[in-house]
Amino acid sequence: MEFLDDRNRTPVYKRILLKLSGEVLSGESDHLDLEVARKIAQQIAEIYSLGVGIGIVIGGGNIWRGSMAAGSEFLDRPTADYMGMLATIINGLALQGALEHLGIPTRVQTAIEVKNVAEPFIRRRAIRHLEKGRIVIFVAGTGNPFFSTDTAAALRASEIEAQVILKATKVEGVYDSDPKINPKAKRYEHLTYLDAIQNRLLIMDSTAFSLCMDNHIPIVVFDMFKPGNLKAVIFGDPVGTLVSDHEKSLIRR
Ligand code: UDP
Repeated sequence: MEFLDDRNRTPVYKRILLKLSGEVLSGESDHLDLEVARKIAQQIAEIYSLGVGIGIVIGGGNIWRGSMAAGSEFLDRPTADYMGMLATIINGLALQGALEHLGIPTRVQTAIEVKNVAEPFIRRRAIRHLEKGRIVIFVAGTGNPFFSTDTAAALRASEIEAQVILKATKVEGVYDSDPKINPKAKRYEHLTYLDAIQNRLLIMDSTAFSLCMDNHIPIVVFDMFKPGNLKAVIFGDPVGTLVSDHEKSLIRR
């Protein structure tokens, strides 16, 4: 029944950029969890079958973050950041395996050359892959230290002309206070970029957020762990929190 209902619905997005943090790939553990990767791939497969063009930027925080080297006597920040970028490649290959296991053609494009395992990031080639129905997994962030994979997501979304960034998290969306501490915390259904800045809601780091705002890329923050949620976002159902530049007042649920 649900299947028939879905068949009558049209995705509201033709091309998306899905941002998966390393944390999302670790599930309840503190490492890369292949079972979690498999479940995430299944959710992605659902929206792939609807004909949505999918670019993915993957983080590496479950393995290494540049900030972990803070205070180290021998590891400088750029080196630590390169380690973080390499970590994203590991996650990207795991996700590629999980998606291809489901029969979905993918390509991994990396911002740091790793000739034997992935092709370099070439914008026009990435777009061609998307047009041919391949999912493109962008790894190694922006290729530059001092940035984040959220910034890479904003950058790649602009480059491939994605209509939206879907930021997968472990919580329902953006709240007015921490829902883990305050049971009465309210989730915002929609925020403008300015609402988010004025209310000091940390949706992404400031570089990434500015890039989205300047390029008018809407962001949907949603819970990737709820089965069917990704598909619900694609159909425009009111899940998660939409951040965009439309002048709407704060709507809370
Ligand atoms: N990183 C970087 N430049 C980039 C993207 C990432 O230097 O363009 C490094 C940075 O050290 C970061 C790490 O890679 O801490 C992992 O990325 P991120 O923390 O964004 O991953 P996530 O939080 O999404 O898992």
